[in-house]
Amino acid sequence: MAVAVAVPAAGRRGSDQAGGPVAARDTRGPDEAGGRGLTGGLGQTGGPDRAGRRSGVSRVHGPLAFEVGRPVPEVRVAGRWLRLAIPEEERSNQVTNHTGPRPVQWSAKVGGPAGTVPASSRRQREAQVSEPSKAGSATMVRGSVLVGPNELRDAIWIVDGRVRLTPPVGVPVERTIEGWALPGLVDAHCHVGLGASGAVDTATAERQILTDREAGALLLRDAGSPADTRWIDGRDDLPELIRAGRHLARPRRYLRGYAHEIEPEELPAYAAEQARRGDGWVKLVGDWIDRSTGDLAPCWPRDAAAAAIEAAHAEGARVTAHCFGEDSLADLVAAGIDCIEHATGLREDTIGLLAERGVAIVPTLVNIASFPGIAAGASERFPIYARHMLDLHARRYDTVRAAHDAGIPIYVGTDAGGSLPHGLVAAEVAELVAAGLPPLAALDAAVWSARAWLGRPGLVEGAPADLVVYPADPRADVAVLAQPLAIVLRGQVRGPA
Ligand SMILES: [Zn+2]
Repeated sequence: MAVAVAVPAAGRRGSDQAGGPVAARDTRGPDEAGGRGLTGGLGQTGGPDRAGRRSGVSRVHGPLAFEVGRPVPEVRVAGRWLRLAIPEEERSNQVTNHTGPRPVQWSAKVGGPAGTVPASSRRQREAQVSEPSKAGSATMVRGSVLVGPNELRDAIWIVDGRVRLTPPVGVPVERTIEGWALPGLVDAHCHVGLGASGAVDTATAERQILTDREAGALLLRDAGSPADTRWIDGRDDLPELIRAGRHLARPRRYLRGYAHEIEPEELPAYAAEQARRGDGWVKLVGDWIDRSTGDLAPCWPRDAAAAAIEAAHAEGARVTAHCFGEDSLADLVAAGIDCIEHATGLREDTIGLLAERGVAIVPTLVNIASFPGIAAGASERFPIYARHMLDLHARRYDTVRAAHDAGIPIYVGTDAGGSLPHGLVAAEVAELVAAGLPPLAALDAAVWSARAWLGRPGLVEGAPADLVVYPADPRADVAVLAQPLAIVLRGQVRGPA
């Protein structure tokens, strides 16, 4: 159900700031809205409106989560909880008319301090987060369930941790979650168990993956980690991790403590071993600074890469490579690579090659933002490398947009772990939009296409109920991804905390 609510501007924060989850605009003056009162309408579309504010009351659009039958519904607007009092007859209107074409008008008052969570309801929500659903009960997810980029359902159900597309028979619905629901987000390039100087302890790795979960990233592709993170697989409360084993790099040609550092003739055997150790992926370091020339340079002769990729494929794994520069790309594509990480060095010719072969890229733009800092640190000893990194950074958006325009599959990855914090999946989607991808394409890169690419289901019958619920349509403004209303992992509500 999509609801538009006018909230007093004083009670709002975030939606009028950059990156706020729900765009807002004035619809009436403070007098009309009656100070602390709220007025609003109910509609099915409710896309964000970007017009600016001009007086004391703002109107926000989006499906707001409140439960009919509760004495004081709460809604979350721009990341803040508001208590509303809605007349009984209007509540029934919301239920009976939510699919109708004409908005139903209703009004409500702020029942508690705007923008704060009443202590009692906060406790209630915390209890709800940790309480496992009872056996034999169902959760209903309703509003707009985006089972595909352009495929909406009014509702789905969760029974025994799995998605049901039809109402369960004989199973009482004991919980309702309302809003815009998406399959759990994908971070297709992160590192769990990895810190600035190599493997970290289990407690740190757990904090990393919990941070991803809080951001709604419920399916992670680990792009190389020296840590043994198999314990994660036994934890129902943690996102699924698809591992690429440990990085394979040339000696002294990558970050210290990360990779197996090996020579080209060793690469095929190591690739096969990491394929067996991982979950369907192997990660090569395709290029790195060569200190003897002072610039980025490919790490592997084409033949060694081809033999390694063939060995990994024989084990049923796909292969991806870290590539910042231009010169490693054509060889790796010719060698049969499946994906390129970062891919900042793409040019017109290599864009054509990747597009032709269907090789995907994971741009990790939130990480490419660090290139100027890397360049500054290197400028004295390696001035050519420093200028190169600045150039790659300067054209990063053009590169990603040109790749998208050429039809190269693009997926969202943050490169969290190592130097970047976890939980940046929403920021990376926003970066893809900044690069010029249509918002739906940027969203797809973290949702439906990304899941299909990794061989995991979305919201289909019988799939694990991994989903994230938002207050507004993320296709209209991906900024809403930063403010999930609910995170459901294997049928359990796990957030927001
Ligand atoms: Zn990485």
